[in-house]
Amino acid sequence: MTKNFEILLVDVDRTLYPFECNVWDAIGERIHDFIHLKLGLSKEEARQLRLSLRERYPTTWQGLNEEYDIDKDEYLRFVHEVDLTSLLPPNPALPGLFAALPQKKIVFTNSTRYHAGRVLDYFSIKPYFSDIIDVTMISPYTKFEREAFPLALEYLGNPAPEGCVMIDDEESIIDNAVASGMQGVLVNAAPQQNGHSHVQIPSINFLAEALARLSE
Ligand SMILES: [Mg+2]
Repeated sequence: MTKNFEILLVDVDRTLYPFECNVWDAIGERIHDFIHLKLGLSKEEARQLRLSLRERYPTTWQGLNEEYDIDKDEYLRFVHEVDLTSLLPPNPALPGLFAALPQKKIVFTNSTRYHAGRVLDYFSIKPYFSDIIDVTMISPYTKFEREAFPLALEYLGNPAPEGCVMIDDEESIIDNAVASGMQGVLVNAAPQQNGHSHVQIPSINFLAEALARLSE
């Protein structure tokens, strides 16, 4: 049923685990901890500095690099070192789900390769993914910009876009994928807002059914 598609581009955060898991809040706390430890500020001063940097730069990291010459790898590694065990419920169905899908599977994330790798490891699904396209590889864009999708396709050796399926929890990202000629599956229980009627599933556990619907 699903043989029409060659490549599955799979988002990580809030796609591989439930929307309400607070991984981003935990990473935010790690950012405050990093600023506190690195710059010798109080926790509250660190919080204020992050807010101020976010007003002036696209990301906290860019502000820290510009104004304090902070090492990017050290920062990214530190802030993503969150305790996934306490944040994400186990999902023992995931390895079998991805093992059974014949398509080439690639992570496509607005986060970092390091964080994506940790989440894949947590769910024991890393062996089923052949590569990770992270935010540094689509710079200066993110998946929220359409320009990111041709860059991802180019990285993959320019496969036919219609043979690629973007699987993501963000409706605007699925919109961008479809506008780039790809197919899309929205993983989100909330009703769609913009009338695009994307194929939608409430959890990644229904991915095989969604791909079958796409190929009908
Ligand atoms: Mg996401």
